[in-house]
Amino acid sequence: MNQAPRIPVSSPAMVGNELKYVTECVQTEWISSVGRFVTAFEEAFADYHGAKYALTTANGTVALHLILAGLGIGPGDEVIVPSFTYVATANAVRYTGATPILVDSEPVTLGLDPNAVAAAITPRTKAVLPVHLYGQPVDWPGLVNALAGTDIAIVEDAAEALGAWVGERRIGTLGRAAAFSFFGNKTISTGEGGMVLTDDPELADQMRLLRGQGMDPQRRYWFPQIGYNYRMTNMQAAVGLAQMETVAWHLEQRRRVAQTYDRLLAELPPGLLNLPQVAAGTTPSFWMYTVYLGPAAPIERDALIDALAAENIETRPAFYPMHVMPVYEADPKLFPVATHYGATGISLPTHARLTEAEAERVVSRLAHHLGVAL
Ligand SMILES: *Cc1c(COP(=O)(O)O)cnc(C)c1O
Repeated sequence: MNQAPRIPVSSPAMVGNELKYVTECVQTEWISSVGRFVTAFEEAFADYHGAKYALTTANGTVALHLILAGLGIGPGDEVIVPSFTYVATANAVRYTGATPILVDSEPVTLGLDPNAVAAAITPRTKAVLPVHLYGQPVDWPGLVNALAGTDIAIVEDAAEALGAWVGERRIGTLGRAAAFSFFGNKTISTGEGGMVLTDDPELADQMRLLRGQGMDPQRRYWFPQIGYNYRMTNMQAAVGLAQMETVAWHLEQRRRVAQTYDRLLAELPPGLLNLPQVAAGTTPSFWMYTVYLGPAAPIERDALIDALAAENIETRPAFYPMHVMPVYEADPKLFPVATHYGATGISLPTHARLTEAEAERVVSRLAHHLGVAL
């Protein structure tokens, strides 16, 4: 039995007014989806991003669905999504009845490859859903170029990239709309929760309507459209507001963790591990510090995960690309980058409370299993 203390792969951190605000919800009995914290969280989130409209949602998956539904996307339409992503991205497209069209990633950011996007466009393409994977912004100028002359909407899946930048522009404000997630392992958390951002007033109105069962804003209990209950509670928003008040701290801690890993892992001989690359002109947020086994690695990815788990170090495999899932299965030869990085990637413990000593232990055990003493 290994007695070393457990290092979790992720953890929420609550260092601000979370308890105070939740206590206020309970004491005032404003616990449901109406209340001051819902509005305050939405305002704080919109202000932080310099966006016009922010709408809280029950989670990040329904935030994605709400945007697509709000854009009127449905059966017969196609939406381009990267194969290398969390399943929610593709599922949200399926919920609308539209067809997700999978594309490969490019090897620097591991976000969708603009050339693959250009090749996947058909007359039925209504939207593209770029995912800023693990907090690395996609090749935005390349994507915009690939879509030049079309009216295809870009909807950012920003679930993993709160606080990242492309040049001077914040992730979440680049396209027609963006979806965020506040699941327990995300950069800031409300337990379960999500947010949509847009500057488009008509889209914002339509999403607000669909979020509340499609009720006519002028006439209570009158439902002209089929909507959803995708609302966030005041209790979740209370946590979310406190998390936003401390978002700079959360981002700074993740940057610190990433810098520590960068520094320590630079000591490894070449060929064992590929470290996350930062594309020129971008500032990633390092939601997860994910490394990829190189050709000289003496161990398989899953065996490495098991070996670290036996030493109480929790890691996780990179996402299995959608094209290997039974429900989205497609020819792996069309997705060489997603196939390779999906099979070799391992996310190291990345969270705000990870200490320097813990990062050192992770790197030293990782190096040990790669046959190197660090
Ligand atoms: C976390 C995440 C989501 C949304 O997930 P929820 O658990 O529903 O909040 C969507 N897309 C990506 C890429 C994610 O990582």
